[in-house]
Amino acid sequence: MKVVREKLLEWYKINKRDLPWRHTKDPYLIWISEVIFQQTRIDQGLEYYKRFVQRFPNVKILAESSEDEMLKVWQGLGYYSRARNLHYSAKYIINELNGKFPNTYDEIIKLKGVGPYTAAAIGSICFDLPTPVIDGNVQRFISRLFAISEAVNTSKGQKTISNAIEKIFSKKEPGDFNQAMMEYGATVCKPVNPECDNCCFNEECFAFQRGIVNELPNKVKANAPKSRFLIYKVYKRMCDGETQYLLYKRDNESIWKGLYEFPFEEFNSKKSIEAELNEPKSLYGSVSHLEPLKHQLSHQTIFAFPILIEFDDKLPINVTLAEWYSVDQIQDLPVSKLINSVLKSLGVV
Ligand code: SF4
Repeated sequence: MKVVREKLLEWYKINKRDLPWRHTKDPYLIWISEVIFQQTRIDQGLEYYKRFVQRFPNVKILAESSEDEMLKVWQGLGYYSRARNLHYSAKYIINELNGKFPNTYDEIIKLKGVGPYTAAAIGSICFDLPTPVIDGNVQRFISRLFAISEAVNTSKGQKTISNAIEKIFSKKEPGDFNQAMMEYGATVCKPVNPECDNCCFNEECFAFQRGIVNELPNKVKANAPKSRFLIYKVYKRMCDGETQYLLYKRDNESIWKGLYEFPFEEFNSKKSIEAELNEPKSLYGSVSHLEPLKHQLSHQTIFAFPILIEFDDKLPINVTLAEWYSVDQIQDLPVSKLINSVLKSLGVV
């Protein structure tokens, strides 16, 4: 086991990718990187990370920003609850902890949106806490190295992975060791075509020795995503010579809380939405159909049917909390990828 630990640390020192957060132990910057890369690949999220820390270089500046501004910088990364939690926790650090980032596992995990994975990563990288980090890359690498057949997304499988890591973990260099496991899983022990022939562990790797690399990791299948059918009502009007659209800020508990969107109506099937599209009711203006959109989220597939309604503003409109925004104002509003696609089809962004 010592051989595995030493080989892995040595491999990491020579082969680690040169990434901005690897030049710092500043817990704020490590926190931002860990949150962004929880559900985003490094090549997809790198520019977002750079932009985010350039605009909000420290916890005080993040805490003092408006939610709209912060969400606008996050726009496109998805999983917006991550951004809202960062903002909330930044305020908590400034107001309740006198601006000092917590430095124990128990305190770090109290930050909103921080779970065991992120707390372990921040704790080990910034404060040398001996807390193993287990993400998808680590699960894959360790389950193959030790030929663990239990499903890695069950509590039993996670416990087995944890026990296996205990055997090789470096308490002397916990931050580097955690990053080494994640890096190895991401770049060598990859989901498809792992580089077993060039792998420095192919003598120790039980999955390789037994010829079962492609069978691991085992996972319990997730439920199929739910389909949702929405008609977005894009109200447009001319006011004092400028084009305006009606949008509202979502304030209910949902993945898009805090983002702006067009009023919408939900239907329970494709058939019922088609009936409504063919004969729209009481829309206060002339209607034209925009390009339908399909938007895939982790647990749902949204079939969106935007319709453009050239609004006659003499008639009442029953959309509470919505406001008219000019094309210029819309540029600063945080919106989901789906609404951004509708705005693109209108030529607004
Ligand atoms: S031999 Fe293959 S499966 Fe085993 S650790 Fe190396 S890359 Fe992963």
